[in-house]
Amino acid sequence: MPLMKSWVDSANAPDTDFPLNNLPYGSFLTGDGEAHCGVAIGDAILDVTALEEDGLLAVADQDEVLIFGDWTEFMALGPKVWARFRTDVTALLAEDAPDPVTLAAYMVPQIGTRMVLPFEVREYTDFYSSKHHAFNVGSMFRGPENALPPNWLHMPIGYNGRASSVVVSGTDVIRPNGQIKGPDDDVPRFGPSRRFDIELEIGAVVGQPSSGPISVAQAFENIFGYVLLNDWSARDIQAWEYQPLGPFQSKATATTIGPWIVPAAALEPFRASTPERENVLLPYLREPEPMLYDIALEVGLTPDGGTETIVSRTNYREMYYSAAQQLAHHTVSGCPMRVGDLLGSGTISGPDPHQRGSLLELSWGGKEPFGIEGGTRSFVEDGDTLTLRGAALGDGYRVGFGSCVGTVRPAVKLPEE
Ligand code: CA
Repeated sequence: MPLMKSWVDSANAPDTDFPLNNLPYGSFLTGDGEAHCGVAIGDAILDVTALEEDGLLAVADQDEVLIFGDWTEFMALGPKVWARFRTDVTALLAEDAPDPVTLAAYMVPQIGTRMVLPFEVREYTDFYSSKHHAFNVGSMFRGPENALPPNWLHMPIGYNGRASSVVVSGTDVIRPNGQIKGPDDDVPRFGPSRRFDIELEIGAVVGQPSSGPISVAQAFENIFGYVLLNDWSARDIQAWEYQPLGPFQSKATATTIGPWIVPAAALEPFRASTPERENVLLPYLREPEPMLYDIALEVGLTPDGGTETIVSRTNYREMYYSAAQQLAHHTVSGCPMRVGDLLGSGTISGPDPHQRGSLLELSWGGKEPFGIEGGTRSFVEDGDTLTLRGAALGDGYRVGFGSCVGTVRPAVKLPEE
């Protein structure tokens, strides 16, 4: 599919994340401090809450849907409404749209506009589904022969995370305190994490509820869209706490998501297959068609007052399991899924060293610090800003995710310290 032209000039630039082909969903604060739903186009945001209020855009036949300022109610209306809305907004913004002058009054510049969470995160589940990431981490701790746990090639491994600590891009992240016991310590100590890290992930936003098992094909249909996701992780806290029930406090500090939900429909031209399987998957996990996407990803690290270094470049198509497989697996126990459930892909690493999606891997457990502009890093330092970016690359255009940004601030001092 070529670039679809818009009357919004900035949407036709080859380097914009937000051409007419994309139309991602976000929520922003108006001048009055009210949250409105917006659709990104070029360097602007179309205020669709105001359009609906003024009767210029009908989302549903009955009540106003976008009045709450986030996309939860809209998602609940289902794929037919999602498709019709996308068609309507495309028509409003297309080159040959009937009334650009009226619509221009509903445009807000992206620069200087504060974004908020675009949906109510009901629950958050995080997976561990990039083989290169699992192999790297397993190699560090158990050696390359036993790197992948025996279950790994048979199912997507995950854990139930915290919805309460999911924050939108731009929110500062406070370095966590916790219990830490290194291999040479006799007893655990309490204090700030010294191995605080990022995880480059894509989050799938569940847009339709289910109760009981659903197929991979149904799971694919139930996914509304995708966001950039940084799953902040305290490696030292995790190493001590995770046995036998998995990560707990080490992953509960914050998970930053990008402000824009890129609709599954916008990613259609970029579908990709999961890799060859070492084992035949059980039937409930088999994909009837390619359900992964080709999305180029990168991580930038900017020290306090310094210059950004791109420390990783990888691709979402490196995943071993797609979000549809993860969602289908999530439901087989009978686990109900709700509108607004968020599924993290797991850290996305590629086969080459520069494609690693966490600092743990980039510095090989802290043993091989890597260079950045003006210094080196093993883990995240106070004042560092981490920026994730992503885009599916078309012919002369990109379907982008914007950026997912977080700056790390010093740990809270506790009274007894
Ligand atoms: Ca993770």
